[in-house]
Amino acid sequence: MSTLIKIVSVFLIAAMFLSCTRKSIDEVEYFKDPHSYSRPDEAVVTHLNLDVIVDFTAKQITGKASYQINNKTGSDVIRLDTRGLAIHKVTLGKDETNTSFTFGDSSAYLGRELKITITPKTDWINIYYSTTNNADALQWLEPSQTAGKTKPFLFTQSQPILARTWIPCQDSPGIRMTYHAKIQCPPDLLAVMSAENATVKNSTGIYECDMPQPVPSYLLALAVGDIEFRPVGKRSGVYAEPSMIEKAAWEFADTEKMMETAEKLYGPYRWGRYDIIVLPPSFPFGGMENPRLTFATPTIMAGDRSLVSLIAHELAHSWSGNLVTNATWSDAWLNEGFTMYFERRIDEELYGKEFAEMEAVLGFQDLQDELAQIKDRPELTPLYIELSGRNPDELSAGIIYEKGYLFLRMMEENIGREKWDAFLNKYFNTFAFKPMTTERFVNYVNKELVSNDSNLSKKLKGDQWIYGRGIPDNCPVITSDAFQKVDVQLKAWLSGTAAVQLESKNWLSHQWIHFVRNLPEKMSRTQMTELDQTFGFSKSGNAEMAFAWLTHVIDNDYSPAYGQLENFLMNIGRRKFVEPLYTRLAKTQTGLEMAKRIYSNARPSYHSITYLTVDKILLPNGN
Ligand SMILES: [Zn+2]
Repeated sequence: MSTLIKIVSVFLIAAMFLSCTRKSIDEVEYFKDPHSYSRPDEAVVTHLNLDVIVDFTAKQITGKASYQINNKTGSDVIRLDTRGLAIHKVTLGKDETNTSFTFGDSSAYLGRELKITITPKTDWINIYYSTTNNADALQWLEPSQTAGKTKPFLFTQSQPILARTWIPCQDSPGIRMTYHAKIQCPPDLLAVMSAENATVKNSTGIYECDMPQPVPSYLLALAVGDIEFRPVGKRSGVYAEPSMIEKAAWEFADTEKMMETAEKLYGPYRWGRYDIIVLPPSFPFGGMENPRLTFATPTIMAGDRSLVSLIAHELAHSWSGNLVTNATWSDAWLNEGFTMYFERRIDEELYGKEFAEMEAVLGFQDLQDELAQIKDRPELTPLYIELSGRNPDELSAGIIYEKGYLFLRMMEENIGREKWDAFLNKYFNTFAFKPMTTERFVNYVNKELVSNDSNLSKKLKGDQWIYGRGIPDNCPVITSDAFQKVDVQLKAWLSGTAAVQLESKNWLSHQWIHFVRNLPEKMSRTQMTELDQTFGFSKSGNAEMAFAWLTHVIDNDYSPAYGQLENFLMNIGRRKFVEPLYTRLAKTQTGLEMAKRIYSNARPSYHSITYLTVDKILLPNGN
């Protein structure tokens, strides 16, 4: 670096600093994101035209990503994120003049910085690329891994930083763009995205998807398979494989009502339609809030609509997350804590206070479990965690979801529901389609709610909740009468009452889950057999229930249910279930051997998000 450039740089940095300090935090357009190489303050993407072929034989997506860009500073380079992508050629403008590109910095989980040479006048860049075997967002399923068993399936999971493994992009949650996509797939399959979609197959296999609202890259999503559509309301419907479509339409019949309830709480739904696609069971999460089209695991179809609060959750993300978006993954609690809170408010309106409180108590139990697991790593327990240099996947779900929920519930209890709801309404409106940082949120709370009320501020203990470790002492106390009834019966059983004599006839599935979760860690073979023969836990069709029971099966070496355990692990790839079951198995030598045997067969059917987690438990040395 020459001295002249140094002097100019110092001057520029000083000028930037001055201009930054003059801006209030409400006016900042882009925040620094340690998980993206992009520099949106210099040159930023505003619209994507995606034109790709989905090739199931080569297991490859190939084509062109064209971006409309805003070259804000007249820069001669625009920086994008890529990971494991083959970049063939880059051109500029609608007339596609050739340009050069290079790769900059790289890291294992961030991938490689793609630097494209542009001019101050460049308004479009066109990137010709293909995915490789390292596209961690993609899962290519063989026909045997689908419900129908005859056609292959592809789905993506881009959150948090996997969009860059299937599309070159500025992969930061604080950068938004609209998009249009042309997807070519085999003609007997249908392609749908987080966008306006076709509802029937056509003979060409070419589908156009349009997303007119600006979204961040982690909400880019694609699914291709033998899927059908059924409407369930005037703005809502379900996509699923033909053999599951009727079941899905029945299970999600309340979707329209949920939308109306959510709108009544926090303002209009701004995304047009809200559809749900039920994916094959290897989907690594419960649901993913891809806008206009929630991606959902089939494990929420319990057959009795008892697990539909997951849909309330994904729908709530249409406000918290998709509309007001965490600016970086360090702020992820703003997406998930808000969504847990909003989800339970929808539950309360639709299914009553008792239902919502049962959900909240189960969530509190999840949080206690997680706190016990990470007791030696208290640095993971603040809501806000500085993630520079770390993979955002390391965040503790229990903390950002359930501690986040408790924090917002505590706010509601101290501020009063009416005032709190008015605040949330204004918050979603004011920051619609904008990035939110923890600091911006705190600033807004101080401005709108706390003002100069130092007593209120002391009562809320916001700093302790957000930046402090553990759970502050003003945590709300949540109780459930329905669960207390269960506790009485559980106590009776433990003192010798036979299982068949327990008063459990009208229990809801939440109560059963509470019962099973709270069984003692150590039980005799006779006790396990009695429970299983009386209540048929091993055969439960409710995945939450089956999971809770299988933890006892492992802890108590209850071999009659090992077949069910193996079946569960072979057929379900949802990380929330799979990870703790393998972790428990790995505690004993015989368990570890069984885990490794099952895993060697199950691993090929898991999504990378799941197998990379389980690899750390079972194959720590990479063997
Ligand atoms: Zn969520």
